[in-house]
Amino acid sequence: MVANADEGEPLVNALGQRIAELIAGQGPISVAQFMTLCQFDPHGGSYTARQTIGRDFITAPEVSQSFGEMLGLWVAQTWHDQGRPENPRLVELGPGRGTLMADAVRALAAAAPHFLHDVEIVLVEASPALTATQKEKLSHVAADIRWQEGFDDSLTDRPLYVIANEFFDCLPIRQFIKTQRGWCERMVGLQNGAPAFVLAPGPTAVAPVNGEGAPLGGVYESAPAATAFAQEIARAVSVHGGGALFIDYGYGETAFGETLQAIADGKFAEILAEPGQSDLSAHVDFGAIKRAVVDAGAVAYGPITQCNFLADLGIGERGERLIVANPLQAREIAAAIDRLVNPALMGEIFKVLALAPKTAPQVPGFGFDT
Ligand code: SAH
Repeated sequence: MVANADEGEPLVNALGQRIAELIAGQGPISVAQFMTLCQFDPHGGSYTARQTIGRDFITAPEVSQSFGEMLGLWVAQTWHDQGRPENPRLVELGPGRGTLMADAVRALAAAAPHFLHDVEIVLVEASPALTATQKEKLSHVAADIRWQEGFDDSLTDRPLYVIANEFFDCLPIRQFIKTQRGWCERMVGLQNGAPAFVLAPGPTAVAPVNGEGAPLGGVYESAPAATAFAQEIARAVSVHGGGALFIDYGYGETAFGETLQAIADGKFAEILAEPGQSDLSAHVDFGAIKRAVVDAGAVAYGPITQCNFLADLGIGERGERLIVANPLQAREIAAAIDRLVNPALMGEIFKVLALAPKTAPQVPGFGFDT
């Protein structure tokens, strides 16, 4: 709700006013703190308080059932190649509407019934509204499923298989801008009583990898929560076995452009204008995630493009079988799969990174190199 400026009221919503008070009291906050407040504020956060169900644009599992099926097959094959460890746990980070897991479970039931019988499935979801949607979607699934609001130590004591599609791009980022004084953090301060971007006066001690090559004015985005998730998962997988697949809109090497964006009602919105009313996300720096995985002692595969990954797993053959079984929907099925793999659509901008223990065989899906 934007108040009417003619009445002298601030041009921000209730959460924006609370953020402005916080900044007035303690000084500018980081972009990461701002994002966290927008997402998790108990009264106005987009995950905690908003009743709409997640992204108002279409994600890969909502495009075609074969996306979740391919990821289910990836889990089945990885588990099989590692000698079918007992008591596996399958975790999905940010399951959205639950579609991906429903499709993955169907593929697992056919390809690895023993896995499905033994597995504990955990959906990590911050939003109560989305948790309710997922529970409904998965109510018919004959497997042990539970929900958690966050990823924690309780998930790292068994062979661990993790799937995350369009999850890392929601995690808070910090931004740094290259100036004559060095890399200065971009903060959220106040202008005329409303949140506004400001630059920290002094340079930061954190220098980005390859930062010397960046132009003046270049923006470096770091995602401490994303690298922390990747490291924690990599450590658990190294110790107990398993593997993880991270799929996201992103880039392979650390780059120097601004990618933070706000989307509301399907359109780009002002990042600071109506905190909690839009979805904030940033492209994923897969270079940084890969370094975190390797530092934690696991092997990282990729990042490769979504089209190469899905083609290697056999999405083309899966599409042909779906068409034979549903000839009347042949055109829709082919168009949906094309949307996932076509380089001009989702095939190239989405990247896939996998991780596995050093001692495990190569994971499936990475047969076509980058
Ligand atoms: N994977 C789904 C949804 C992607 S949208 C799909 O492909 O359709 C991002 C999802 O991550 C949403 O379910 C959102 O509520 C959840 N999410 C974002 N940040 C989170 C966090 N820090 N902890 C747990 N869940 C989070």
